[in-house]
Amino acid sequence: MTIELNKFFESITFLSPLKNMEEIEHVIERRQDPLSGRFAIGSNELVGKGQFFFGPTDHDLIEKVARESRENCFFCPENVEGTTPRYTGDWLAEGCLKKGECILFPNLFPVSAVHAVVALGRAHYRKLDDFPADLLEDGLSTSVEFCKSLYRAMPENKYFTINSNYLFPAGASLVHPHMQIFGGKYPASITNETLEACRRFFEDEALSYFDQLLKLERQLGQRYVIGEGPLEWLTPFAPMGTNEVLGIVPGCQHLLMLSDQAIAGLANGISKVLAFYSKMDFSTFNFSIYSAPLDGSRNFFPVFIRIICRQNVRPNYRTDDYFIQKLLGEELMLTLPEDLARNLKDFW
Ligand SMILES: [Zn+2]
Repeated sequence: MTIELNKFFESITFLSPLKNMEEIEHVIERRQDPLSGRFAIGSNELVGKGQFFFGPTDHDLIEKVARESRENCFFCPENVEGTTPRYTGDWLAEGCLKKGECILFPNLFPVSAVHAVVALGRAHYRKLDDFPADLLEDGLSTSVEFCKSLYRAMPENKYFTINSNYLFPAGASLVHPHMQIFGGKYPASITNETLEACRRFFEDEALSYFDQLLKLERQLGQRYVIGEGPLEWLTPFAPMGTNEVLGIVPGCQHLLMLSDQAIAGLANGISKVLAFYSKMDFSTFNFSIYSAPLDGSRNFFPVFIRIICRQNVRPNYRTDDYFIQKLLGEELMLTLPEDLARNLKDFW
């Protein structure tokens, strides 16, 4: 076996006020991601405690925030044409890109040489079970078209990711659904780490890590969700975020190689995963779509997406990103990936 899925167990006993001060034992499970070496942590007492840690979504608060932010929203239909930035030069006609209800333009405060925004549809606020696949498909194909135009004009910019933050606990500064294309000459840290780890794996094993991972997960069946067209969906053994779902496009190295079917498959999967999160009463998310450089120099790396939940919208919420995640680089598993995969299958 070329990929090892390692679990390490520790136990702690103490007198618990939750059990009349009787001695109880917590069994801690540490899972190591076979590619990055990062750990995800669970325990027998944590499983199923997601709502205790995250708290229920305050839907009235979301409605209030959505209502109050609607009037001055730059991404709403009456403003998006006149008050959002435009690119200069002749590489992008009109300085923006439009498709269906989506429009792409520069981020007003870029933090990378390539940093574009796609306003995703005309609706100012959407529940997670109302992100239709065709809307996401328009947003993704607009993003890919942008990468193609920019790379053709400025080929030194070869690293791109397509990302999204939804609602303020997930880092979004605007309620209006949107995506961000982030890239330039340099890979993002996690893109770089993953590219390097995949390169080492390929040198050692003469095989693609992600191809081998899919083969293993299909055999095991515990975390494999479904193969649909060019997409393969699963939950990672040692997740980087809450309720993480992984979508892989095997054999597709970078964003410009995505077929129309693959873009539609990504959109369909995102739509289903968000509906699943909504059913679990989560209200926010992040996703990132990773790609090898567009010059085709890394043929052992497929395009893949990570989708995660973030803290729920509620007053005085506690962040889900504290020392364990932010400074120690580890993640908690409040729902085991195997349980997540089993329940997610019902949404396909
Ligand atoms: Zn809006």
